[in-house]
Amino acid sequence: MSGIEARGVGVRYNGRVALEGVDLAVAAGEWAALVGPNGAGKSSLLRALAGTVAASGVVTVGGRSRSETPRRQWARLVAAVVQHPVLPAGMTAAEYVLLGRTPHLGYLAAESAADVAAGLSALERLDAGALAARPLGSLSGGERQRVVLARALAQDPEVLLLDEPTASLDIGHQQQVLDLVEGLRRERGIAVVSALHDLTLAAQYADRLILLDGGRVVAEGSAAAVLTPEALARFSGARVALLRGPAGELVVAPSRVLPMGGFSPAGERKGAPSA
Ligand code: ADP
Repeated sequence: MSGIEARGVGVRYNGRVALEGVDLAVAAGEWAALVGPNGAGKSSLLRALAGTVAASGVVTVGGRSRSETPRRQWARLVAAVVQHPVLPAGMTAAEYVLLGRTPHLGYLAAESAADVAAGLSALERLDAGALAARPLGSLSGGERQRVVLARALAQDPEVLLLDEPTASLDIGHQQQVLDLVEGLRRERGIAVVSALHDLTLAAQYADRLILLDGGRVVAEGSAAAVLTPEALARFSGARVALLRGPAGELVVAPSRVLPMGGFSPAGERKGAPSA
């Protein structure tokens, strides 16, 4: 397995800079979470890594550069789950997931029984086996999200790019999906780059957080290093309390009682009733 590297990546839309000078290196088996306010450039960076938007700079996986690798070969290396995929309403979940096998087939070759089995197993791992025969148009937002993730899984990539993979999932399925991604990177050494607006999930699942703002990387490191009270006040624009869970894990919680831009540092129990 190979990680993914990016050097000097920039993206413009109609001449307007959305991302500029971004360097990134995510090793095999590592999970980096892109965090930052709306419009910071998280999706644009993921699109640049996936090769679905025109971007300056260089992106490589295992020494192969995106610009010099045919699209089909790149799809064997990198699978991307985008935020609002266009899904053919009449296609069944099983047919859609099988599309993930396409980069692995020879030209004009049909899927083998092993490809079909890989598709169904991906659906099952996402608790979506029962949806196999359902048309995509009949699925709820959360069900669709799991099917889209199953397609990326069936693609069997070296690098998995996830743009808000937990959007529209209930909390149980959010944890199930992230646990699954965690398993994939541990068992198979897949490198994961995800945009996650939920800072608690980002802190608890990723090895490293990359904070983007205004199209640039403004901080990078462990959750504790990146999610400082200053950064939260500056970039979240919200009243949040930085707490610790029972095992010492970080929890970033909205707080109605804090002043605007306020925060409650982990460990302190400001406002807690005195014993
Ligand atoms: P994030 O994912 O962090 O919310 P995006 O990468 O979606 O940020 O957006 C970064 C900037 O690029 C924003 O100013 C956004 O309005 C702009 N942008 C994103 N996609 C497009 C697009 N397809 N066309 C024009 N501008 C875009």
